[in-house]
Amino acid sequence: MTPLPIRRRRTSWVYSRPIVGLAVLGLFATFVSPFPALTVQSAEDTGEAKAEPETNGERELFTGQVVLLREALKRRGLRVADEMADQAVLETPEGDVIPILADWRGRAFFQDERLRDRKVELVAYRREHLPYLQALMVFTFDEDGVRQYTDYWCDVCSIPMYEIKPCECCQGDIRLRFQPQDLPDYLKLDAVSSSSATDSK
Ligand SMILES: [Zn+2]
Repeated sequence: MTPLPIRRRRTSWVYSRPIVGLAVLGLFATFVSPFPALTVQSAEDTGEAKAEPETNGERELFTGQVVLLREALKRRGLRVADEMADQAVLETPEGDVIPILADWRGRAFFQDERLRDRKVELVAYRREHLPYLQALMVFTFDEDGVRQYTDYWCDVCSIPMYEIKPCECCQGDIRLRFQPQDLPDYLKLDAVSSSSATDSK
């Protein structure tokens, strides 16, 4: 019967020292929580520039429509369970289905149906051995067919964001933003060089 007193003593230690518990919580709040916040902010603030050092594939232009995997497979006569249904995929004009990685830039296609079922151009890359498309820039087209660089924007703080969330600065609402913009020059140069190479054959 000796374990009983020990158990009681432990219990009473916890309850008799609520201040210790509060102090520990306070330390967590003070020292632990700022670090994830800072990490998230610095990774997302800089957009494409931040992502580029991690790029080990070539940036390419991918075109097509983003749909949910369930729809893409249904058109091919395949039915899948809910676990696979809501994966965002790019359907290319050639009929390829490429899953999109839900990272800092691709996540918006999972969140925002306004970005799906419409013509898009994605500056993106694929890593070797991985099927996922990692988007860096998203272009959509308006009713007149004008190419629009597409991201999110806080009108109060004037900062861009790349997924739906409260503004990183004021915590207010952000809006989907469309800006008429050409494709980046590095893609145009690639296109020119590859087409001229084809022409010369
Ligand atoms: Zn804001």
